[in-house]
Amino acid sequence: MLATMKLIRLRWSIFLVVIGLVGCRPEQTSSTVAGEPALAAPSAPVVKSTETTTNVVKSEAEWRRQLTPEQYHVLREAGTERAFGRAYEEFRAQGVGTYACAGCGALLFSSQEKFDSHCGWPSFYDPANASNVVTHVDTTLGMTRIEVRCARCGGHLGHVFKGEGFPTPTDQRFCINAVALKFIPATNAVPTVKP
Ligand SMILES: [Zn+2]
Repeated sequence: MLATMKLIRLRWSIFLVVIGLVGCRPEQTSSTVAGEPALAAPSAPVVKSTETTTNVVKSEAEWRRQLTPEQYHVLREAGTERAFGRAYEEFRAQGVGTYACAGCGALLFSSQEKFDSHCGWPSFYDPANASNVVTHVDTTLGMTRIEVRCARCGGHLGHVFKGEGFPTPTDQRFCINAVALKFIPATNAVPTVKP
């Protein structure tokens, strides 16, 4: 039943994306980014986990103890970090590896799908393990956007936009808060969550 609901939500998300919903308008124009190459291709393989998703459920008090105030605001209150913040600058400097959920450790993205969209937040063109990322329609702030959440702990990650003209294989931009991610370098790129 849960899987069916998730499938329905996924289909709705795909449908809404296909009919052309866009949002998250950082101060940029397509002309400034369309010709930008993706970041250098990684030279080492990145772990693609086949982990199964087991929901993580914690009380708000537990989340507050575990997370920094900024992480709590993003992951648990669907907040958005400041563009071009310190965590984003750290993200930009990171090399080959994987990105796990800062809340529960589920593998979400990899550096292979990372690209520079110049929007001030981490950008990926595809999840590394799609089963750990769920999307649904977000109509807050007077906009209709597709929200991205961690499938395992429900933490808010960011939004996904499609059809913006980026030179990536999917032309999708997963616009993710840097503080919601935990980087695992490729040298020991083992997800914190084992199958
Ligand atoms: Zn999570």
